[in-house]
Formats: sequence, C-alpha cells, structure tokens
Amino acid sequence: MLQISNLSHVYANGVQALDNVSLDIPRGMFGLLGPNGAGKSTLMRTLATLQKPTGGSIRFGTVDVLSDPMGLRQMLGYLPQEFGVYPRISAEDMLDHLAVLKGITNTRQRRELVTELLRQTNLYDVRKKALAGYSGGMRQRFGIAQALLGDPKLIIVDEPTAGLDPEERNRFHNLLSEIGENVVVILSTHIVEDVADLCQNMAIIVGGRIVAQGQPLAMIEGMRGRIWRKMLDKAAVADHQARYNVISTRLFAGRSVVHVVADSDPGDGFEPVTGGLEDVYFSTLRASRAAA
Ligand code: ADP
Repeated sequence: MLQISNLSHVYANGVQALDNVSLDIPRGMFGLLGPNGAGKSTLMRTLATLQKPTGGSIRFGTVDVLSDPMGLRQMLGYLPQEFGVYPRISAEDMLDHLAVLKGITNTRQRRELVTELLRQTNLYDVRKKALAGYSGGMRQRFGIAQALLGDPKLIIVDEPTAGLDPEERNRFHNLLSEIGENVVVILSTHIVEDVADLCQNMAIIVGGRIVAQGQPLAMIEGMRGRIWRKMLDKAAVADHQARYNVISTRLFAGRSVVHVVADSDPGDGFEPVTGGLEDVYFSTLRASRAAA
C-alpha cells in the first residue's frame, strides 16, 4: 500500500541520511527500528511531506507523494517526535481548533468527532484541562487524537514512547494497536519492545540503509539455534568480547549476562537460548557495523 523506492537524502552539510531506501509497507503496524542517527526521523518527515528527498519515489495507493503532497496530506495523520508547543488552552478546544484546520466545518459533526477522539484516547475526563499541564503520557495520547482527525489512512508516529513510564507506555501501545488494524501505521523507534509488542512487519535501518526487513517472528525464527548465553563476572566481559561475537551484555543481579551469536556451540560454559527480537536487532547492528 505504501511503496518507497530508492529513496535517498543528502543534507546540505553533506550528511547522507537516507541511502537508497526501498520498502513496501502493507496495512497494519510497521516498525522502523534503528539507533539514534540512523535516519528514522528523516524518513518519517519525508513520508509526511515535510521535506523533499534528494532522490527516489514514494507512492501511497494511487498517490504519487512527491509530486502530489497535498494528495497525501489529506490521508495523513502525523505524530512528530517533539510536539513542541503545549499551550494553555484545553485539549478539547485545541482539538476542535485543529479539526477546523482539517476542514471539518460542520459544528455538530466536529463536536461529535472531538468527543469520540477524547474518549478513544482516554482523555475525556481531563478534556477541560490545559495542555500545558498534561503529563508525558497524556500529551502522547493527545498527539494521537490530533493525528486521527480527518480519518487518516496513513499514520506516522515518530519515537512515541520515549519518556513514558511503563503504565503510560502500555496504554499507548493498546491505543496504537486498536488503530493499526485498518490503516497503515508506521512506528519509528529505537526501542525494540515497541516493535516486538505491536508490529506485524518491520525493518531495521542503520546509517541510512535498510539492513533487514520482514516479520518479527520470522526474523526471530531465522536465528534459532544461533544464540548462546553465559553469566559472567563483570571483569570477564572484555575478554569474552575479544573472543566471541558478543551481541549484548546486560547486568542481572550484579553479574553480567552476555549473549553471543555462533553457528555451533561455543562450549566454554555457554548455553543455548531462544532468541528474541533484541538478539535479532543487536546481531544485525553488529553485522552491519562490521561491514561498514
Ligand atoms: P534518527 O531519527 O534515526 O535519530 P535522523 O534522521 O534524525 O536520525 O538523522 C540522520 C542523520 O542525519 C544524522 O547523522 C543527523 O545528524 C543528520 N541530520 C538530521 N537532520 C539534519 C539536518 N537538518 N541537517 C543536517 N544533518 C541532519
């Protein structure tokens, strides 16, 4: 439904933020996962028609996005990374105002829509409160409410859960997954669990390039039998990093747990583990950095 072909972007300072990106994104939730600086926001802003790429093409259904940005904007809901301004007016009044800007001129229709969105995003009880006083989670849900105005067919959400506490994040996930059933939702994030919890399809971007794509479960399955784990004293980590393909190191109860990728049993006290999306992500990052 959304087709991105050979998209490239070079900023005026010479940084190549996108390098020949091609992706076919079907209906449902799509996760774009990558570390900071990978080019996610550049891609999201380009898809949202806020900046023109230096090369390539984008089609959404029958719309050629680069030659007809207005055609896309009518179908687009966008939640930017930083919403920026949180004025001292209430969520209800702000949403009503944004609905007018979206062209919903019938007052009664608009009131109904605003009420429905406030209920859907669980903000109805705080609708009279000024946005300036909203918590991080409430702001994100307001961001979704405004992105849903005008019945969008493509919803772009850039780094939505950064700064949310676990409960807020969970609530936000549930909201997104309800929306994602009938439209294309693209979720850009550096948080692996966001993608693991929500997305039927995903891609990993590193250094402006798509280095892996597919269904999360199939990608996890593709690593079966190749992830090994060992618990170590912190002092032994550096030595293991030198000797094995370590993809992650984390602390657990004051000791270090390392995951390595290897085609056969490394011995040396390692045990096999069922990998998760984190293992897919970290091993992909490691491989693409080694190749760069
Ligand atoms: P991400 O969202 O994955 O963190 P970005 O798209 O923000 O990545 O950035 C990709 C690369 O482009 C980075 O190297 C960043 O420094 C650079 N970049 C982003 N915006 C600009 C800009 N306006 N001018 C110059 N370089 C930029």
